[in-house]
Amino acid sequence: MNTFAEPIYFFASDNTCGLCPPAWDALRIAGEGFCPSYGEDIWTRDACDALRDTFETECDVYFVFNGTAANSLALATLCQSYHSVIAHESAHIETDECGAPEFFSNGTKLLLARGERGKMEPESVERLITRRSDLHFPKPRVLSLTQPTEMGVIYQPAELKELSDLAHHRGLKVHMDGARFANAVASLQVAPREISWQAGVDVLCFGGIKLGMGLGEAVVFFDRDLSAEFSFRCKQAGQLASKMRFLSAPWSAGLRDGWWLENARQANACAQALAKGIKAATGIAPLYPVEANAVFLDLPQQLQNKLRERGWVFYSFIGGGARFMCSWATTEEQIAALINDISNIQA
Ligand SMILES: *Cc1c(COP(=O)(O)O)cnc(C)c1O
Repeated sequence: MNTFAEPIYFFASDNTCGLCPPAWDALRIAGEGFCPSYGEDIWTRDACDALRDTFETECDVYFVFNGTAANSLALATLCQSYHSVIAHESAHIETDECGAPEFFSNGTKLLLARGERGKMEPESVERLITRRSDLHFPKPRVLSLTQPTEMGVIYQPAELKELSDLAHHRGLKVHMDGARFANAVASLQVAPREISWQAGVDVLCFGGIKLGMGLGEAVVFFDRDLSAEFSFRCKQAGQLASKMRFLSAPWSAGLRDGWWLENARQANACAQALAKGIKAATGIAPLYPVEANAVFLDLPQQLQNKLRERGWVFYSFIGGGARFMCSWATTEEQIAALINDISNIQA
């Protein structure tokens, strides 16, 4: 019994939940006995194969400890120090990684594109790519997309294709921050390939942590030429796990047994239920369409304060509203209790 856990109140992020039971089983099984280190083990081999099966293509796969490492090392590998990366102004790589993409790339600059709800507008991207081509300005090299966006909104496959075509046409590579990629797959009900390599993504940072894996994100190179020497970069950055099996075993189990998608569906369904319940009980509609596992609400400051007094934990520094994130561990009871408290305080 974990006496420090306060399970019902946490909606701050989908990384505040625990380790999902089948991931725990996978870790326990992988934890028995001896096996080769640094990714030479059977669990890692199978997790890589499971990712290739999931995406129905050949690809190179690496496991790192967190999303910041996945994004910044992938970008650093795609860029020279004099390059630039185009991303949305609200992108995690810009607002929440403490300059790690710039640090690991030795100075690659981020150029910020605009667009509603965290989605980059093609015109804004085109303008950033074509604005300058002289040698006094860092050369655009990568377009970085976040799917779902930081506002919990989803790029449709055709929107991804339009942006990646635009990027490729101008000689840029396409990176996807997929910290919640599974939520996008579940929401769109597509095959993973349709919103990754078939939509023009060259490198995907596929999130496992918020999905219930505990630790570990997968960096998936669909353009395999780009992964040359990536393992050296991981090692230098302190991101090569000697006991790699503890990052990879939950991936292998989750992809093989299908719970990666069930977890994402559960999180998305909870967000839907929360948004609908709040609307019905209080008349407050979400700030952005609820397409994945985030619900943003424009709640008066006093209501927010009272919710916090009752123990609810949520962020209000992202996306211009109170943000409630659902995860695989969120339950109907928690959603009902939250709706009940918001409508009681409002009354
Ligand atoms: C959570 C998240 C990450 C990863 O963050 P870490 O804390 O470094 O694991 C990356 N991108 C987005 C959009 C995220 O929400």
